[in-house]
Amino acid sequence: MTARRTALIVEDESEIADLVKFHLERIGVGATVTRSGRRALELARQSIPDLLVLDLMLPDLDGLEVCRRLKEHDETKLIPVVMLTARGSEADIVAGIEMGADDYVTKPFSPRVLMARLENAMRKRGSPTAEQPSGVLRRLDGRLLIDRARHTLTCCGESITLTITEFELLCVLAKRPGFVRTRDQIIAAVHGPLMVLSQRTIDVHITAIRRKLGPLGSAIETVRGVGYRFCEDAPV
Ligand code: CA
Repeated sequence: MTARRTALIVEDESEIADLVKFHLERIGVGATVTRSGRRALELARQSIPDLLVLDLMLPDLDGLEVCRRLKEHDETKLIPVVMLTARGSEADIVAGIEMGADDYVTKPFSPRVLMARLENAMRKRGSPTAEQPSGVLRRLDGRLLIDRARHTLTCCGESITLTITEFELLCVLAKRPGFVRTRDQIIAAVHGPLMVLSQRTIDVHITAIRRKLGPLGSAIETVRGVGYRFCEDAPV
């Protein structure tokens, strides 16, 4: 039997905290609630949770600072962090993702969306790249195979040619399916002597990748105002 999964909910609005706790416990995750950012850091260090649900506006330390401190320490940096944010706060979301948060959910949220995001974050714990030893990224039930060593891409059994930049960009997104990457994170990951990427050219490359992937192109989701995400469960 595997140990019971645990989550730490850091949220000062008790109605929201209770709602998140209720839905986590329904799927067997033991949830602890605190309304204090400082307390959350203490609790996370005492007993490493499988998930941290983090509100950004807290009475003491703000959520971004909590996230920064968690990611600063080896013992807590692998805890998946999902931020709870107000709708329309793209700047906060971008800051949080760049601070190391794995995903976010905007309030008010539907339980279905919330749980899909939280489950995804817990599943990815400890396997940040989920790459086969061969260096092949197998996505969308094998319909998409990205061979990073050979620099080849197979889409529904057909070989597809991407430019170097397109290939690297697809790898950055496909490496961590389900997680949003901001444009700046993509630039930092892809940038190299052969590649100069700007905020604007990313969108052009993404359009080209989607076109080349054909029906699987919709797996690359635009996250409005934030960046892009590779969706393993896209209806493709
Ligand atoms: Ca709050």
